[in-house]
Amino acid sequence: MLEKIKQLILGNDYSIRERMIRIIIAFSAVSATLGILECMLVMKMSSFLIPVLGLLLVIMLFSFYVAFRYRKYKLASVMIELLVVGIIFPIMFFLSGGLEGGATVWYAIGIVFTYIMFQGRARIGFVAFCVVSYAATYVLGYLFPDWVVVMPTPMSAYVDSFFAVIMVGSIGGIIINLSLEMFEKEHAANMDKTRQLEESRDSKNSLLANMSHEIRTPINAIIGLNEMILRSNPSDEIAEYAGDIRIASKMLLTQVNDVLDLSRMEMDKMNIFPAKYDADSLFHEMIEFVRGECEKKNLELRLELDEKIPAVLVGDEKRLKQVILNLLDNAVKYTNKGGVTMTIQGENISDTEVMLTIIVSDTGIGIRKEDMAHLFDTFSRMDEKKNKHITGSGLGLSIVRQLLDLMGGEISVDSIYTKGSVFTVKVKQGVSSKLTIGAISIRERGLSSNVYKPAFEAPEARVLIVDDNRMNALVATRLLGATKVQVEVAETGEKCLEMTRKKYYHVILMDYLMPGMDGTQTMQTIRRQENGLCRESAIIALTGNTSEGIREQCMAEGFDGYVEKPIQSRALEMEILQFLSSDIVEYVEHEIVSGEGESGLQKIGIKKRKKILITADCACDISREQLEELGIELMYLYVRTPSGRFADTREIDMDSMSEWISVDHSDAFVESGTVEEYEEFFAEMLSGAEFVIHISLSAFTGKNYENAVAAAKGFNHVRVVDSAQVSCGFALLVMQAAKMANANCEPEVICDELERIKQTIQTRFIMPGAEIYYLRGQTRELTFKACKFFGLHLFVKVMPEKMKVVGLLAGDLQQARKQGIAWHLRRKHKINRDIVVVTHVGCTLEEQEWIKKEISKRIHFKQIIVQKASFTSASFSGTKSLAISHFEE
Ligand code: ADP
Repeated sequence: MLEKIKQLILGNDYSIRERMIRIIIAFSAVSATLGILECMLVMKMSSFLIPVLGLLLVIMLFSFYVAFRYRKYKLASVMIELLVVGIIFPIMFFLSGGLEGGATVWYAIGIVFTYIMFQGRARIGFVAFCVVSYAATYVLGYLFPDWVVVMPTPMSAYVDSFFAVIMVGSIGGIIINLSLEMFEKEHAANMDKTRQLEESRDSKNSLLANMSHEIRTPINAIIGLNEMILRSNPSDEIAEYAGDIRIASKMLLTQVNDVLDLSRMEMDKMNIFPAKYDADSLFHEMIEFVRGECEKKNLELRLELDEKIPAVLVGDEKRLKQVILNLLDNAVKYTNKGGVTMTIQGENISDTEVMLTIIVSDTGIGIRKEDMAHLFDTFSRMDEKKNKHITGSGLGLSIVRQLLDLMGGEISVDSIYTKGSVFTVKVKQGVSSKLTIGAISIRERGLSSNVYKPAFEAPEARVLIVDDNRMNALVATRLLGATKVQVEVAETGEKCLEMTRKKYYHVILMDYLMPGMDGTQTMQTIRRQENGLCRESAIIALTGNTSEGIREQCMAEGFDGYVEKPIQSRALEMEILQFLSSDIVEYVEHEIVSGEGESGLQKIGIKKRKKILITADCACDISREQLEELGIELMYLYVRTPSGRFADTREIDMDSMSEWISVDHSDAFVESGTVEEYEEFFAEMLSGAEFVIHISLSAFTGKNYENAVAAAKGFNHVRVVDSAQVSCGFALLVMQAAKMANANCEPEVICDELERIKQTIQTRFIMPGAEIYYLRGQTRELTFKACKFFGLHLFVKVMPEKMKVVGLLAGDLQQARKQGIAWHLRRKHKINRDIVVVTHVGCTLEEQEWIKKEISKRIHFKQIIVQKASFTSASFSGTKSLAISHFEE
């Protein structure tokens, strides 16, 4: 019976909160009933109260019914709260001796219940209700003591209080106990569920792993035999079919490997095994993998190798290859015209470590900004509609990221939708040799030949293949055909032992898993075989098991080498070659060595990718020499003239300005760069830098800043700063940024500093007359006419967000310049004396010298730069104008 009631209240299909409320409602109903009965018994009660209490009891039981029958907990809670706190407890207070009896003890449990039953605002409201209701009874009890029914005897007071303490204490205790019990049950059930989930995930993963493993064996046979068809000089039609089989089976193999890797990673069974590897061959081998596809799609393929990368690195070669291949594969897959470039750079961290930067860039379809966030998610493919003809599973990049996490590396992406993508991987590798590799472009390496050539030829070498699978043995035999080695096959371990007793084999290729005597047993028996001729022979394990540590396991068991299935002919040849003595090897493919002279190949050095590149709109008025010295790149703005569109400072010079701009002929307009132009510019800049800070011509001069900001949104590694300055002020800002970038400051630090220092730059213009300024709509007609009539010159100050005429200078141009310079440099104590920059439009050399002297007469600056203005700047100030800028302290 008790169990039944418990089940009714605590049934498992209710949430924990629901169960708590059911307990409270049940207890409230029972205890309120008992409380009322106790009141009736203990107290002398006026007879009219009896039906009232009876009615309350009925309402109480009704709410109990509503809650349990119809699960209307909110309604039941509110009814209970109003009844108990608002009516029953106050009545009990007045009927059972006020503070003398036990009513106040019940008050406490009323508040506790309120906290449990309600949430959020309702909780605050009902707790307030309790406080108000109780306070009212206390105040009324105090003001009208007559209202309180005095306990008939002291004994009654003691009984009432005792009853209340026992009831409230027990109810509290039981509720806490029941809730603990509920929590424990719930927790145990959750733990159970988690364990079951983990078990089912692991069994799903191991099922996947096993299935993938089983699938690899037949794929091995397909790839190998198909390779034989391709090598046997087939007719065009057959070659085409076989070519398609090659592509399809390789794709299948990739997908199976991906699934296998993914399940391994999910089971935390993927480990990284560092070992020495030849860096040069690794990168070239990767390029080789995609070369055929590139040729088919007519894409240019380039490899740029930093010649300073150490020749022998230490890392997990297999996993690094997997990362690179995924990126290259995608680059080729998602590019239809243009090309794919892989750039490898190395930066020595210490004598034993190098930071490898691998950049795979393409001119393909690009990735939308909003898709970037999901790029590395499992099974996520972007732009499915557009890419429906491109095969893929959406696993590659997810695996790449996870592998890099394991290797302590990182990957980042920059892309412009429709223009192309740049994937950058950074990963630390150990250094095993001080020798470095040279940089050779792929085309110069002569990799265009499609004809298969074996790594070596050794007709006298004898190789024994031990494999129970006839097809696999056939594949290995055929793959070795070109090396001219003598191949024999044993189908079991026992047969192998029979053969090794009779004949010496230089190399034995041993299938690892065989029925009967397995590969390891056979190998170990050969090693101690009585009268065996092959005890010293090289024994290489062949296995389709690619699980982590299998190579180490094979070596530890006593094998001399290891070749993974499906067998890659180059890997097989290289593995065998190392065990053949040079006297039986007739020919070894002449590996192209990167050393100078040896191959006669031209080396090309690659431009090292800068950490931070400062770029600016060409209107920043910095000389070519300074740009080169500080490593600043320019975004060219265009000047539209009646003769066409010219790139400022590159195709048109301000010297030719007078040709276009005069009072009655003003047809040359500077155009702001478009968003697309900025996108292209940033994409190009990012191929030479990890981060680009672009300083754009002040927003008040046109749309450059706005467009540059819009373009930068497509890139993760581009920041745009508004110069808030023009001409020489702009130059000062850009040069300062470049100095910070060259000092290896972080991008954030540079941007913050630029925001600060641009407020400290003072720039003023001295403009002969006011024609241009007026024509550009920068000044009023009255000023223009006054200047013309009195022969005055404009003195203009660059303010934040605008340029403002701050004075008119009288006299001839030289006098005006003198006054302007003097005024500009008047607050000597505030001026930073490191550098002053002057830009001029059409000043002669003498005039330039005179300007320098005028400045030096007033203040001795460490550096004075007098520089020709760009067309853009000149078009605002006019010929013979001058601008001067410095930093204030
Ligand atoms: P998939 O097998 O679909 O190529 P990945 O995980 O390798 O899977 O890539 C995920 C998605 O990212 C692709 O479906 C594609 O939309 C996008 N993607 C990856 N690399 C590139 C690239 N170089 N250019 C454009 N889109 C790319």
